[in-house]
Amino acid sequence: MPVIVLTPAQMASIADAAEAAFPAEGCGLLVGTGRRTITVTRLVAAKNLLAGDGPDRFELDPSIHIRMECDLRGTPERIVGHWHSHPDGTAQPSATDLAMAWEPDLVWLIVGVAASCSGGGQVVQALAHRLDCEAGRSHPVPLRIAQNNACKGPGFPT
Ligand SMILES: [Zn+2]
Repeated sequence: MPVIVLTPAQMASIADAAEAAFPAEGCGLLVGTGRRTITVTRLVAAKNLLAGDGPDRFELDPSIHIRMECDLRGTPERIVGHWHSHPDGTAQPSATDLAMAWEPDLVWLIVGVAASCSGGGQVVQALAHRLDCEAGRSHPVPLRIAQNNACKGPGFPT
């Protein structure tokens, strides 16, 4: 089982985007390097095409996914996974998530957002998973927060 490594700045920008999307779901792509230790090198913002379609409905804009795959061809970076938020505060994959999982190598980072006292959204937990759609179950992927990631791509926080 791999581990996934993000920086505090990357976690903070995911939290900001998830809170901004609340009460709909936010989502984005994770680009990185490595197999056993997957290091996230950058985040790619993506629109949730199904925002407002009810609980746990998200679909990453496929044009962003395709453009990134082209951009990354021949580079050490690749799409290692994606994140999305759950406005009910849970960070476990839902039945909808399991039904949608067709790429077993991708890491699913799920951010649970709950209503804060001010009425906005507030991230309460974040967990990473790999989803096995054939078995209909998920496996946890340890999430490590490191100060510095090895690869400093464009937009990488220093
Ligand atoms: Zn979900």
